[in-house]
Amino acid sequence: MQKVEVVPRSLEDLAGQLTPEQAERLRTAAARARQVLAGRVVWSVSSTATGGGVAEMLHAMLGYVAGAGVQTGWLVLAADQDFFRITKRLHNAIHGIPDGAWTAFQHEYYERVLRRNVPELLRHVGPDDIVLLHDPQPAGLVGPLRDAGVLVVWRSHIGRDVPNEASAAGWEFLRPYLEPADGFVFSRRQYAPPWVPADRLWVIPPSIDPLSAKNRPLSADERLSILLGAGLLAGGRPVGSARVQGAPPPPPDLPLVVQVSRWDRLKDMAGVMLGFAQLPASVRDAHLMLAGPAVEEVSDDPEGAAVLAECLHTWRGLPAGVRERVHLASLPMHDPQLNAIMVNALQRHAAVVVQKSLVEGFGLTVAEAMWKARPVVASAVGGIQDQIVDGRDGLLVPDPYDLPEFAAAVARELGDPVLARRLGHAAHVRVRDHFLGDRHLGQYAELFETLLNRRSSRPAG
Ligand code: UDP
Repeated sequence: MQKVEVVPRSLEDLAGQLTPEQAERLRTAAARARQVLAGRVVWSVSSTATGGGVAEMLHAMLGYVAGAGVQTGWLVLAADQDFFRITKRLHNAIHGIPDGAWTAFQHEYYERVLRRNVPELLRHVGPDDIVLLHDPQPAGLVGPLRDAGVLVVWRSHIGRDVPNEASAAGWEFLRPYLEPADGFVFSRRQYAPPWVPADRLWVIPPSIDPLSAKNRPLSADERLSILLGAGLLAGGRPVGSARVQGAPPPPPDLPLVVQVSRWDRLKDMAGVMLGFAQLPASVRDAHLMLAGPAVEEVSDDPEGAAVLAECLHTWRGLPAGVRERVHLASLPMHDPQLNAIMVNALQRHAAVVVQKSLVEGFGLTVAEAMWKARPVVASAVGGIQDQIVDGRDGLLVPDPYDLPEFAAAVARELGDPVLARRLGHAAHVRVRDHFLGDRHLGQYAELFETLLNRRSSRPAG
């Protein structure tokens, strides 16, 4: 296992981004957490320290937890590509994408890899500690941790609003591992499978960190020099950090539509291009940039390279006149801060940010763009629906497969600066009020307090 360094962050800095009432709520939650968790470490276990929403959130939130005076640690699983192929299938299944049956061998392999992680895990974790296991990859560690007397919470960042056969099969794979958990956390109530007992179920949506490299304010000059320097816009003298495929980098002065995602079919980067191709002539000066991680630098997602290749295939099939305005950017991942600042600059530079996911657990990229007061067009799926009230904080496309609707919504935002400004402003307020650390930390403090109270009232033996 790899131990990830958690750098403490100042809660007062975060409080400075909040309304006075929220800042007070944050201080109260921190004081409560310090008291309840004194002498314990809160551990997170995940599958990667870089790339994707879970890593993003852990870097931010754990820093604030440490800054609040709570001892915290983060461990990353040691696993191989075969393990991640199984867990990627699980991830897809829980999102409702069928991919064959599960075999005893897959169970056995999954368990074997996790078993190898147990001795080191238990070297770090003490019996009074609390462990948060994130997503399907470490789910099989619930049992060994419970056996060692540790409080275990499983945190799912994924889910599907309406179960189908594939999602039911995915849950059945995980169920025997998960059932003993002391608590379950989902981003939406609908995501919980029916066998999760109501008294062990918590609904806690994610949050973003307004002060991270991903979200901190950038001046227009800074933004431009980052994008020129990265080679993401034409005209700079790039130091060669990002790789732009498809059309060469776009000029800085034309409107840019941006989607930032992992190269994952469920993010439907290909569909974004096909929808973009349907924009009306009135907004045809706009360019589109699809930005994702450099695939060779992401360890826990074996499908990334194939999905990027499929996107390039789709790009080649775009009509002339569109193809020249569509860019596929691979952002370097070796330096998370550099990656984050590029995403920040891209999101801020965007005239419109889109998230055309087919399914979505939460969609941090949506909250990130909203915080930056960008007008967003997104599919009305999963947690995106909790973030955007259609027509007020952005535009939702009810059917994620409906390309003409998607194109119409993007065209509305591109063509109407007053609407774009209004949506962007409301979006920022929405994120400030609901998707920052004060709400998030407060909910976790309550969860831990409840679990510890339950444990102390459990009869001995
Ligand atoms: N992200 C990034 N660089 C990339 C692509 C994505 O930093 O090249 C980040 C993105 O900004 C967001 C997270 O990865 O913070 C993706 O989270 P989201 O919840 O949108 O989707 P997930 O990847 O968890 O399905």
